[in-house]
Amino acid sequence: MIKFSLVCRKGHEFEAWFKSGAAYEAQTARAQVVCPHCGSHDVDKAIMAPAVATRIASMPAGEPQPPPSVHDRALFLRQVRDEIHAKAEYVGGRFAEEARRIHFNESAPRGIYGEATADEVKELAEDGVPFFPVPRLPEDFN
Ligand SMILES: [Zn+2]
Repeated sequence: MIKFSLVCRKGHEFEAWFKSGAAYEAQTARAQVVCPHCGSHDVDKAIMAPAVATRIASMPAGEPQPPPSVHDRALFLRQVRDEIHAKAEYVGGRFAEEARRIHFNESAPRGIYGEATADEVKELAEDGVPFFPVPRLPEDFN
């Protein structure tokens, strides 16, 4: 069994268990994975980026604090996301491995982003590797 951090089209984050990565792909392809908050079938794996990416993006360390209004928040998240996409390297499913290597100076320090399972996220947090989830925005699903 494998647990993924998922996010729906409206930005609701939740976790779900799957037999395997392939089972996740098959179930989302058949719209069998549903957001528990709004019932949307438009769900995808949450993308994770280490805090080092925020430094490259000239952001303060730690989780960004979005402004309160919904419009500003969307704009802010879009800026963060665009900065990461522009300046960080996409490593896909190797995110947890690469984030750990960079954290322990086994790999060149650089901004990366990619996908991680909930278990990997938990292990990274336990190892003290700084990272945060990158918000997915509606156009990412287009
Ligand atoms: Zn939702």
